[in-house]
Amino acid sequence: NISDTRPVIRQLDEGAINRIAAGEVVERPASAVKELVENAIDAGAQHIEVVIADGGKTLIRVRDDGCGIAADELPLALSRHATSKIDGSDLLNIHSFGFRGEALPSLGAVGRLVITSRIAGEDAAQITVSAGKISPIRPAALSGGTVVELRDLFFATPARLKFLRTDRAETQAVTDVIKRLAMAEPFVGFTLRDVSSGGEGRVSFRADAETGDLFDALHGRLARVLGAEFAENALKIDAEREGFHLTGYAALPTYSRGSAVTQFLFVNGRPVKDKLLIGALKGAYFDFLSRDRHPAAALFVDCDPHLVDVNVHPAKSEVRFRDPGVVRGLIVSALRHGLAEAGHRASTTVAG
Ligand code: ADP
Ligand code: MG
Repeated sequence: NISDTRPVIRQLDEGAINRIAAGEVVERPASAVKELVENAIDAGAQHIEVVIADGGKTLIRVRDDGCGIAADELPLALSRHATSKIDGSDLLNIHSFGFRGEALPSLGAVGRLVITSRIAGEDAAQITVSAGKISPIRPAALSGGTVVELRDLFFATPARLKFLRTDRAETQAVTDVIKRLAMAEPFVGFTLRDVSSGGEGRVSFRADAETGDLFDALHGRLARVLGAEFAENALKIDAEREGFHLTGYAALPTYSRGSAVTQFLFVNGRPVKDKLLIGALKGAYFDFLSRDRHPAAALFVDCDPHLVDVNVHPAKSEVRFRDPGVVRGLIVSALRHGLAEAGHRASTTVAG
């Protein structure tokens, strides 16, 4: 009998849809931290405090002093494809980290999520969602901003839980996420505390807010995040071509590394792992480095949002430039120029 075996088409329920989306957006604790810290940056926070326990598996708490969420909008923040960041009419004009409205519903589908928030001039409110079940809004106490607490990530999806690595490896991944975001936001303060009981000590990464010149602030932030040695050996990069602006610091060939771990690339403030940019960086150092060495750099490409599509992947680490050739040319020529000048300075110093 054919009708016994023929599969029927059904609409998935909201919980299943959110768990599937969570699989794309939230791979591990570090991806949850990334989403929450990006939300805090989007909210205009000056200081962002992250607390984790057990590699983020049992606890992630992100506190910010940003604009907050209105009490009556808390349920919307937890509903899929609801966002305050775009109106949907122009997907190529994106100025924020977020825009998909997927992170909070996804996190609420795979963990226990409590959001407490307060906007200026109103009382604080709190909403809880656990494995997709949303509680009514409650009054709460908070001086301002937002606190998002995520406990027991993936308790609702045990298969995913099994794929997590050791607490130490997950803590490292969380630290890397914070470092990357901290590099791109030198005027925002970040702290990360590991409050695991009996864990291998407290992981602590602190970077304070700074004021003044962007290059000074960036240089100071890079010195803290990547180390003083990088900062001392880095050339300031500042160049422009056809609407693309390249800034940042690129290390002298003598500071190169045996692996590519010290390459940090950003597009419109967003950390990316982009083949085009990595290739351009490599190309720029081609005449200055032996093949087994990797250049170290923190570079920022900024352009009108219409010149780049960041809507390529849910985790948003890939981008697509409208004119990749221009971007490549800009990077290669700006870096080659800087390196040649530095080499020239070095050789004249030696000669003199
Ligand atoms: P997206 O960031 O793509 O908009 P999210 O699911 O991450 O989607 O967040 C949904 C909405 O909740 C955001 O658009 C924003 O309005 C609000 N929100 C989330 N986190 C914060 C925060 N820390 N401060 C203020 N508003 C927030
Ligand atoms: Mg978001």
